[in-house]
Parts: sequence; structure tokens; C-alpha cells
Amino acid sequence: MARAPRTTHQVAVIGAGIAGMAAATEAARCGLKTALFDDGLLGGLITNVGAVHGHPGAGATTGADLVNTMLGEALEAGVDYQPGAVNELISQDSHWSLPGNGATALRVILATGAELRTLGVPGEEQLSGRGVSQCAFCDGGLYKGKDVAVVGGGDGAFQEALHLAELCASVTMILRGRRPRARPTFVRQAADLGNMHFRWNTDVREIIGNGGVDAVRLKEQDGDEETLSIAAIFPFIGLAPRTGLAPMEASRDDAGGLIVDTGMQTAQLGLYAVGAARAGHGGQVAHAVADAKSAAQAAWRSI
Ligand SMILES: Cc1cc2nc3c(=O)[nH]c(=O)nc-3n(C[C@H](O)[C@H](O)[C@H](O)COP(=O)(O)OP(=O)(O)OC[C@H]3O[C@@H](n4cnc5c(N)ncnc54)[C@H](O)[C@@H]3O)c2cc1C
Repeated sequence: MARAPRTTHQVAVIGAGIAGMAAATEAARCGLKTALFDDGLLGGLITNVGAVHGHPGAGATTGADLVNTMLGEALEAGVDYQPGAVNELISQDSHWSLPGNGATALRVILATGAELRTLGVPGEEQLSGRGVSQCAFCDGGLYKGKDVAVVGGGDGAFQEALHLAELCASVTMILRGRRPRARPTFVRQAADLGNMHFRWNTDVREIIGNGGVDAVRLKEQDGDEETLSIAAIFPFIGLAPRTGLAPMEASRDDAGGLIVDTGMQTAQLGLYAVGAARAGHGGQVAHAVADAKSAAQAAWRSI
């Protein structure tokens, strides 16, 4: 049997969101020397979520608490946590090299997650941080008693809108389709609130304001344009996987998510992808954790 090359680690996990932390913990518990890298946004997407829903056993917890607990578990398991972005990943004969981080590993688990998509309409970039926000839990308090809008129809959009409805005079949900994709409990809760309004089959065309958001220009599909006065707008219209680090040979789906087998291995031997970075991510914390465990165990069995 060929001898394994000398590497700084057996497993390198890139990205310390839910998927990365869970993968690193599992790999370390399997006895593998494991490094975990993160570009500074430790915890990823869940960090700013005020109330995590649907994570078995977690009860009522904030995203930040969940992240702290999971980081504690990783460190306790012996994970070598190294803050710092990974900018380059090179496949060598039988291992991987992360040249900018001075690390090499037999296996790499890519857990770089995803970015929230933006609307790409005039005014969005200019007013970002001045009324355009993608974190209701961070910025909602700034718009107490005011009229705001949320764009999107998934769980994330409804979750953030329900939080805003507790603070704001009104929340208008702007949805492209005729029915929301969010789980029914969120939709029912929202429909029961007197200060939540819905615009179906509607697109955002422009965000209007000077120094802050004043209004949004809407266009109903097959209908008229309308200007709605609001003080802030929160777009939650889906995720764009961050998979630029993976070599081109690793196949991707149309959205850019890495295609994996049942053990989470990509088309590149020894490169695994988990959580929001992979094609077909289930969308929730529990899915990210399940991916992570599968990948870590598959990596362990393969070494
Ligand atoms: C608004 C909102 C609300 C949600 N609410 C819930 C909920 O209530 N319940 C639930 O189960 N799920 C919820 N989710 C979904 C959940 O957050 C995600 O499924 C999960 O967090 C995905 O985790 P991840 O680790 O795959 O990716 P991410 O959270 O995106 O983490 C990726 C990590 O990798 C790091 N990274 C990226 N590139 C690099 C690089 N080159 N080098 C080093 N590090 C890098 C990032 O900084 C980040 O820390 C919600 C999502 C959103 C957007």
C-alpha cells in the first residue's frame, strides 16, 4: 500500500459556518488531525438569526449561541482553528495544498457556504447600509415604528419579516410568485398579523432615496407600476453558493453549487463539499450538519 504523503493536516475544512464546524468536529472525533479555516465571518449565515427554527434538540436558541456552542465543541474535539481566508486550493498528486495558509492536507472539505443574492436594481448598492439591509436582526431596530418591506417568499424572508413585524409599523412582503415557498407555520403566523401586507406577482424595479431609502418602485407582472413609501427594504431572495475555490474539474449545477456523491465527494478525488456550497443543499442547519457528518466519515474511511 502506498504511504500517505507528509502533510500538515489529514483534513482541512474551509469555512467555519455550521457545516464547516460540524465537519471539523466530526473529523477530529474520528481521530484525524483537522484544521478549520474561516475568513472572519465565523458562524456564517446563521450567526445573525435571532431565533433558529427546526434544529432538532436546539430548542429556542439564537444563531450566535448555536455558533458559540459549536465552536466550543470543535475546539474541545481538538480542531486546529485558524482564522484567515483560503484564497487558493491546489490539487497535488495525492494531497491538497493551501499555499497562502501554509497548510497541506490529504482531504479537503469545502464548507464555504453561500452569499445572499441581491436584487441588482438601481439604488440597491448606493443605499446598502442606509436602508437596504440583509439582516433584520441587526438593523430592524433602526426602523422601529416605520414602514418597511421584505423581498422574497422563502423561510428566511418570512422569518426576518416576522421579526420586523414586532418592531415596525408595517411590513410589506414583495413576492415574485403567487404563493410562498416558506413553511406553512411561518406563512400562517404572517397572515394573522394585522401589520403585514403582501404584494404577489410583483417585482422590485428600483429603490429610491437620497442618503436613505424613501420608497421602492414596484411592477406587478402584467400590471401597473407603483411607488411604495418605505424606510427600509430587506431582500432575501435566495443564496449563491461560494465555490470559486474548487477546481473547474469539480462539476457544478446551474446555480454554481458543487455536485457531490452520497459521501459528499465532488468529482475531484479527496475534495468534499457540504452545506450551502453544494448542489441540492436542503437549506437548513440540520441538513448542513448531516452533510458534514457524511463527508467527515467518508474522508476518515478513505485515509
Ligand atoms: C435569513 C436566514 C435565516 C435562516 N434561518 C434558519 C433557521 O431558523 N433554521 C435553520 O435550520 N436554518 C436557517 N437558515 C439556513 C442556515 O443558515 C444555513 O442552511 C446554514 O447556515 C448553512 O451553513 P454553511 O456552513 O453551509 O454556510 P455558511 O453559513 O454560508 O458558512 C460558510 C462559512 O465559510 C466562510 N468562508 C467562505 N469562503 C471562505 C474562504 N475562501 N476561506 C475561509 N472561509 C470562507 C464564511 O465566512 C462562512 O463563515 C437561515 C438562513 C438565512 C439566510
